[in-house]
Amino acid sequence: MPEAFTTAPEADWDAAPGLLDGAMKLTLGPDDCDLAYWITSVAQGTLRDRGVTGHHQDVGVPDFLKTPGPLREALVLEFGFRGLSEEIATRLLGHYVPIAPGVPEMEFYATQMIDEARHARVFRNHLVELGMPADTLLKDIDDMAADYRRRVLRPVEDFTLEIVRDQQDFIGGVAVFAIVIEGVLAPAAELSERKWTPLSPATGEVSRGTAIDEIRHLTVASTILKDHLAAHPESRDRVLEIIRAGVRMWDEVPDREFVIHREELFQEGMLQHADKVGDYEIWPGVKMIDTSPEQRYDMAERWTDEMARSRLGYMGLPLDALDSGGTGAPA
Ligand code: FE
Ligand code: FE
Repeated sequence: MPEAFTTAPEADWDAAPGLLDGAMKLTLGPDDCDLAYWITSVAQGTLRDRGVTGHHQDVGVPDFLKTPGPLREALVLEFGFRGLSEEIATRLLGHYVPIAPGVPEMEFYATQMIDEARHARVFRNHLVELGMPADTLLKDIDDMAADYRRRVLRPVEDFTLEIVRDQQDFIGGVAVFAIVIEGVLAPAAELSERKWTPLSPATGEVSRGTAIDEIRHLTVASTILKDHLAAHPESRDRVLEIIRAGVRMWDEVPDREFVIHREELFQEGMLQHADKVGDYEIWPGVKMIDTSPEQRYDMAERWTDEMARSRLGYMGLPLDALDSGGTGAPA
């Protein structure tokens, strides 16, 4: 197995830690995750045998997700919205590459941009595996997600563009992406992986693959920020100000209603397919079948908060940067 020598453990399909664990415990920087790392450990490592659909060809989507019903509707909404979010993330990251201060940061953001483009592609194309027509897919997603795009994604997009495109502030942009944008998306991705794995192995694998990438995005961004703050202590107030503004922005965005809507559909579908869920535990000691949409949403919020606190602590920033709301779940 010569591959074992070329794939870093945190990028290995079977050996990689869970997203929350990895994002909170691993330390990776742009010098670790350069372009050579990406080619060997990600493209030829994580994605080996999963490059086309995001899942292994031997695992499939069960027939009950290909026929109309609340579970299928929940998955179509979730992956449609996530696909669109990842597309916007890709377009935003294009602005990071030209302003990256050095080659390691430039290479890292070039790879992250490709990662997000891939995420958009696998989420989107998973809908074709569920039976949505391929030839109208992009338009169908745009129609389905128009409201979400306008009310949730647009404010995030405008906020980030102002920093990276208009002000050309690389470090501010790294802070927004890692603490606010991916800080919220990562726990949603973790929840997704846990929810769908017992119902659809292919769906679980698509989420798992994006989660492995997310560990890298969160940890490397944290290291870039930590090193920058150590070398330029005078930039601390500016970084904190941007994080606070980002947290406030996210607090005002109405994402909850969209997430709760699809969690309610998931709930209805899960109860219909209770036999497949069985005693599966969504987190230690809690059976998924016993959870409610609000409980799952609240757990993702709690993970967001824990993760942001752990990354801020690592960077030596005060935890009250999160207090303006948004990522602040009740303690
Ligand atoms: Fe992503
Ligand atoms: Fe990411």
